[in-house]
Amino acid sequence: MNSFKISTSDMGRQYRELVAVHGSPLLVMDCDTVREQYRALGHALPGAEIYYAVKSLPHPSIVQTVLDAGGGLELASNGEIELIRSLKVSPRRTIHTHPIKRDRDIVDALRFGCTTFVVDNTDELLKFLPYKHRIGLLLRVSFRSHAAVVDLSKKFGCALGEASELIRLGADLGVHIKGLSFHVGSQCADTTQQVNAIHQCNTLIRRHHDIGAAPMSVLDIGGGFPVSYDGGHVDINRYCELIRDALKELPSYVNVIAEPGRFLSAPAMTSVSTIVGKAIRDGMHWYYLDDGVYGSFSGQLFDHMRYPLEVFSSGPGRYPSVLAGPTCDSIDVIAEDLMLPEMGIGDLIVGHMMGAYTAASATSFNSVPKTKIIVRHDPVNYDAVDESLKIDPFVRI
Ligand SMILES: *Cc1c(COP(=O)(O)O)cnc(C)c1O
Repeated sequence: MNSFKISTSDMGRQYRELVAVHGSPLLVMDCDTVREQYRALGHALPGAEIYYAVKSLPHPSIVQTVLDAGGGLELASNGEIELIRSLKVSPRRTIHTHPIKRDRDIVDALRFGCTTFVVDNTDELLKFLPYKHRIGLLLRVSFRSHAAVVDLSKKFGCALGEASELIRLGADLGVHIKGLSFHVGSQCADTTQQVNAIHQCNTLIRRHHDIGAAPMSVLDIGGGFPVSYDGGHVDINRYCELIRDALKELPSYVNVIAEPGRFLSAPAMTSVSTIVGKAIRDGMHWYYLDDGVYGSFSGQLFDHMRYPLEVFSSGPGRYPSVLAGPTCDSIDVIAEDLMLPEMGIGDLIVGHMMGAYTAASATSFNSVPKTKIIVRHDPVNYDAVDESLKIDPFVRI
């Protein structure tokens, strides 16, 4: 169920102005929000290096914003390397974290200059034999999380019990495993699993050190930092409290990396779509929009999130309503059973917190083009748009 808010008609003025200039549908991206999120997370995890998970919203303006703030990039494909090549990123500020790679992927990433990779099994480790003098590896360990909406330790990561053997194999082959990584999942409700994972990795790192092996000097704690999709607020400083405590117990030679995607990108984008048609079917008010689950709302299918919606009306009645997307497929429904006022053709529907895993996974099914993104407070293109309009990325419901 999407949370939603009915605001008065006059509160939709800034969105109507944007649509008048740029058309509909629209995604309004605000790089200032990324800067604020980056600052908040940096403050919550002092000493950690922040690598933005590019896949959550692969947009050059966000990438540049993160780089300007002092962060690095977490990459997982050749396409992501191509995207950032034009931004003249120092490859030293990138890590390649896909645990499964073709030789070509390794060669291309090396040619770009990225030298940190992730492995989680013997076959992957062996792929690095020809390049062992040029790389450092992180071993991804699996810690299953039931508190994460998207469990990412099911598909990747070696079992904790296998880690020592892989590290030993790396040492025997001269392939340097310089640290450990994990990613417990996305949109984690609490930090129990991260804290547990940090403790277990700490034990492994210390044991390794005790047997006199080359020290593992990196711990990558992955992403998973949550945002609120119900109009509330996540206090990231409090959220990270136990993570901070666990990190303090690591040996001083260990550098910590975090790989936030959603936390940086989700609040940075707001969608604006328009009602283009309406009908009453079985007592339900159906509204057909120019954007839907094959487009910017794709995250409702792939990422299992429900975005807070906002409509603008001063009408008194409330009717059970459906918001449907523009394609001919019946699954293209954004929200059902919303109690909305009577809406009209041309009225706007705003979706908040729509930066992460939305545009990134949008399709052009039915040959409906992908939604245009306009950028505010843009470090890449200084002809920024409509800076005077106030748009609060965090809707309060
Ligand atoms: C997707 C991904 C991330 C980002 O996850 P969020 O939940 O968006 O923070 C970080 N690291 C790896 C390896 C990933 O695959």
